Parts: sequence; structure tokens; C-alpha cells
Amino acid sequence: MLNLLKDFRTSTEEDAVRWKREGNGVFGAKGAYKMLFGSSAYAFPNRRIWMDKVPTKVSFFAWEASWGKILTLDKLQRRGWQFPNRCFLCGCEEENANHILLHCTVVKTLWEIALAIFGVQWEFPESVIEVLLSWRGSFVGKKRKNTWNSIPLCIFWTVWKERNRLAFRGGSLDIQKFKNFFVCNLWSWARVYIGEDSYSLLGFLEWHAAT
Ligand SMILES: [Zn+2]
Repeated sequence: MLNLLKDFRTSTEEDAVRWKREGNGVFGAKGAYKMLFGSSAYAFPNRRIWMDKVPTKVSFFAWEASWGKILTLDKLQRRGWQFPNRCFLCGCEEENANHILLHCTVVKTLWEIALAIFGVQWEFPESVIEVLLSWRGSFVGKKRKNTWNSIPLCIFWTVWKERNRLAFRGGSLDIQKFKNFFVCNLWSWARVYIGEDSYSLLGFLEWHAAT
């Protein structure tokens, strides 16, 4: 903050505070933010999170996940809670945000379905924020882009709902229902902008298969 303040200089001619980091001398939040946090501060996937084709509560969850703020078991342990850390979905590995949303073997099945709908393969980055930053869909074409863009958020939301159901209500995972829940979520969001071609689930899938 000290450095930030040093960048304000009083201009003797104009008797006004000038912001030396901006060419026009006008203070801007963008410039201040960049100076405080570095240029990497810009590498936040806002466009992949705040989308009008996705419910706001889902975007908000993705935003929290990107900042590492969701309350996974590793976080709770760090806050002093004493319990074993086992992923609610696969039951094998420890739960953290990157595992439960990306790398869990159970969750991978959803990513595979999504990629299969578009007929593509994808190499997964390590973290949630990296996935969102690198989730570019220019190759899927303008027609299919909205659905493509909503895939990560739809998976995050589906997984988190199911994870919470298992964590708080118990029971076991029904993998077919889990997959169905994901595809139906994706379908219900897309029906709004695709129109009559997606009135049936099969129509929805065929619409995306036909490039
Ligand atoms: Zn798992």
C-alpha cells in the first residue's frame, strides 16, 4: 500500500493529485489493482464465470471455487475440525476443491460425457481456475458456444449438489442418476436459448452433434 501511495504526486501547476501510473494522470482502480497484485491479477476467468446463460447462484459458486473458498474437507481440517478426509464421491482420495470438481474418478465421468457431446478430447490443467482460464471454445462454433461455455459451471454445480447430499444426508452414490442429473441440468439451461430443437433430450443431443 505504501508504494501505491507513493505513486500519487501533487502537481504544483494544477494543484491536483495526479496518478503517475496512468498516462492521463487519472487514478483508475484497474491500474491500482494491477500495481498491488501484479499483472497476474488480470488472469481471472470472469467471462467464464459470470454468464447470462447460467443461473447466478451457479456463477457465484464457481467464483468461490476459483478463489479456493468452498468448504471442502481439507479446509475444515485446517480450521481445526477433527475427522478423516475422504472424498464423498470416490471414497478413495482426500477431498479438496481441485479433486472434487476436476480430478475425482467419479467426476471425470461427467467431464467425459460433456467432451463426448462435442466430440473433443481435453488435457486437464491442475486447478479450477486454470480449467476456467483455458476453457476456450472457438472451435465448437458459434451455434454451440453457449452450451460449451456453461459445461464447467454445470459440472461444478452438479458435483457440489451431489457431494452435499451425500455429506449431509448420507446414502450412496447412484452413478447413473448422477450422470443423468448433469445432462438434465445442461439441457434445462440450454433449452432457454436453443428453442424447439431441444424440446426433447434426444433433440438437444442431436442439435449439438450436428455441427
Ligand atoms: Zn473423489
